[in-house]
Amino acid sequence: MIRLCQSDSAFTIQQYYDALQAQGIGCLIRNQFISGAAGDLPIQDTQPELWLMDKDDLTMAKKVLNELSSDSDEGEWVCSSCNEPQEPAFHLCWQCQQPRNSA
Ligand SMILES: [Zn+2]
Repeated sequence: MIRLCQSDSAFTIQQYYDALQAQGIGCLIRNQFISGAAGDLPIQDTQPELWLMDKDDLTMAKKVLNELSSDSDEGEWVCSSCNEPQEPAFHLCWQCQQPRNSA
């Protein structure tokens, strides 16, 4: 499995999940129900995450999420760590997991 993205919004993750399922892309949500433990864990470990069952689906999954967020103001961004171009929907680099706003 490979982590596709995470969000502080369980609603957003659920939207992504539904969109991927509709395309027949196997995925699952992690950290959806543990918000009660947030006080004891680093925040990045408690945010809902979307995982792909098969990393071969990554390109298709990125395309689906990109279309889902196509009406967003946000554009593509480039990872500050590995310089990989990123889709607007992602908050972490899909390649090296670097957070989007990290310098
Ligand atoms: Zn990166």
